Amino acid sequence: MNGAARKIRLVMELRKSGVGDTKVLSALERVPREIFVPEPFVDQAYENTALPIGQGQTISQPLVVALMTQALEVGDRMKVLEVGTGSGYQTVVLAKLCRRVYTVERFKALLLEAEQKFRTLAVSNITAITGDGSRGWPEQAPFDRILVTAAAEKMPATLFAQLAEGGVMVLPIGLPGSDQEVQRIRKKDGHPLVERLFPVRFVPLVAGDLPVGN
Ligand code: SAH
Repeated sequence: MNGAARKIRLVMELRKSGVGDTKVLSALERVPREIFVPEPFVDQAYENTALPIGQGQTISQPLVVALMTQALEVGDRMKVLEVGTGSGYQTVVLAKLCRRVYTVERFKALLLEAEQKFRTLAVSNITAITGDGSRGWPEQAPFDRILVTAAAEKMPATLFAQLAEGGVMVLPIGLPGSDQEVQRIRKKDGHPLVERLFPVRFVPLVAGDLPVGN
C-alpha cells in the first residue's frame, strides 16, 4: 500500500473512532506525518500508533491528536498555546486551524528539529520556544485555547490563569505510568468547568528547568 492509500485508511479509521469534525480530519489529511517520525519508523507514519522521537519522548497516536484537537473546538481567529511541542506534528495540525500557535518544549534538541519542519512545510503562524511550559507563556496570555500534550498530576493553575474567559483547555491528567484521562476545562466566570473525556497514556509534564546543555 502506498503512502496516500495508507493516509486515507487512517483518516477512515479516525472517522469510525469518533472524529466527526471535518475541519479536524482535513487538517490531519493535510499534514504529512511521515516528516515528523524518525527515519526507521517512516513506514509506520500512517499507522494509528505513537512512535519514539528521541529524548525518551513520543509523537502522539493520530487518534489521540485528532480527538484532543476536536475537543479543543479551535476557531480560525484564535490564539492557541501548546505545551509539549515534541515532534511538532500536533503543532502544525493546530496551525492549520487557528490564527497563531505559541508552543513550548522542554528539550531544545526536539524544538530545533520541530522548527526545521515548520520551515520545510512553510508554516508561518507558529512561535516556538524552549522552556518549562507548565509556566505557560505569560507575555502572550491570555489564550483562547490551551492544549497540553504531556500528563499533569492535576490541573496546572498557572495555565488556567492564562486562559481567556470562555476559553477551553484540553489536557491529560494523571500519574505517569498509570491510567490518565483527557479532560476539557472551560473557563466560565473565572471558574473551571471540567469534563472527563477519554483514557490515554502520555509522557509526564515535567516542571522545572533542564540541566544546561539539554
Ligand atoms: N504533541 C507532541 C507530543 C510529544 S510528547 C507530538 O505529537 O509530537 C510530550 C512532550 O512534552 C515531550 O516532547 C516533552 O519533552 C514535553 N514536555 C514535558 N514537560 C514539559 C514542560 N514542562 N514544558 C514543555 N514541554 C514539556
